[in-house]
Amino acid sequence: MQKIIFSGVKPTGRPHIGNYFGAMRQFLKLQNENDSGTNYFCVVDYHALNLVQNAEEMRRLSLDVAIDFLAIGLDPKKSVIFKQSDVLEHTELAWIFDTITTVPYLKRAHAYKDAVAKGGEEDVSAGTFTYPMLMAADILLYDTDIVPVGLDQKQHIEFARDTAEKFNRIFTETFKLPDAYILENVQTVPGIDGQKMSKSYNNTISLFASDLEIEKAVMAIVTDSSGEKPENVFAIHKLIRDESELEKIYEENKGKYKILKELLITDLKNFIGPMREKRAEIAKDLDYVNKVLAEGKEKASSVAKIKMQQVKRAIGVI
Ligand code: ADP
Repeated sequence: MQKIIFSGVKPTGRPHIGNYFGAMRQFLKLQNENDSGTNYFCVVDYHALNLVQNAEEMRRLSLDVAIDFLAIGLDPKKSVIFKQSDVLEHTELAWIFDTITTVPYLKRAHAYKDAVAKGGEEDVSAGTFTYPMLMAADILLYDTDIVPVGLDQKQHIEFARDTAEKFNRIFTETFKLPDAYILENVQTVPGIDGQKMSKSYNNTISLFASDLEIEKAVMAIVTDSSGEKPENVFAIHKLIRDESELEKIYEENKGKYKILKELLITDLKNFIGPMREKRAEIAKDLDYVNKVLAEGKEKASSVAKIKMQQVKRAIGVI
């Protein structure tokens, strides 16, 4: 395959299995298939700044995402791993997109609507409001073909496509239209409370959880009391074990929630354990992680600079 792949993860807390199955596992798959293309995996720290407003925390969480990327198997020889704030063109291009986008259009964004629903409009930062334009800039700067994301990000990829089309129409053909890559059978991974699993809802199973954390989280998964199949347990279980095999096991153990949860615990421990150990190894060598980010910065910057020259010529500032 010869494609340009781009995706990002916000450094806002520990990644969970929803992030992994919804998006990060696809990063790995695409990286390994895309032997003659380019893959960009970005720690999107400026997106996180809407939520993380403490310098120490920002530094730690950003480095953590880079370690997570390496721990799941992203390979700096095959992928460009970098920090958004290291490539100035992301915010520069986001501003240009802000100027060709209307307020009502941005008000349609689910993320904005959720933020308003949670705290009221007065508490929504301008950064949260214009966030889809920064995300459009992230993606479009690299002439991206494919963006592996979870279903919750689908609308933002459509915004990036619309923005590319609009820019091309107003100025001159400059941007390629990217496609989202969303797995049909994963869609949205539920959290232990049955809502969407999210760092913001306190309902996650961490991707690098300890055995004890796995036990606690699984035992807390909400089940109904009908005595039928515990749907929330099954929905998580099928991510790590063949679905038809599981259907049989769940049928044989109908209503035996404790047995089914214990089985999920065992399977999760086997799945998470090796990745957690690999992560601990990588975290011992932070010089290496910083070196990966520095190299990523160089590679991403060289591409972004050329694109930005094209953009600036198109709008007439040079
Ligand atoms: P969070 O919502 O936990 O803060 P991010 O916004 O950092 O996660 O998302 C990182 C990636 O993980 C995105 O591509 C997003 O679509 C995906 N993702 C997040 N939560 C889920 C989920 N519950 N199911 C599937 N994919 C998810």
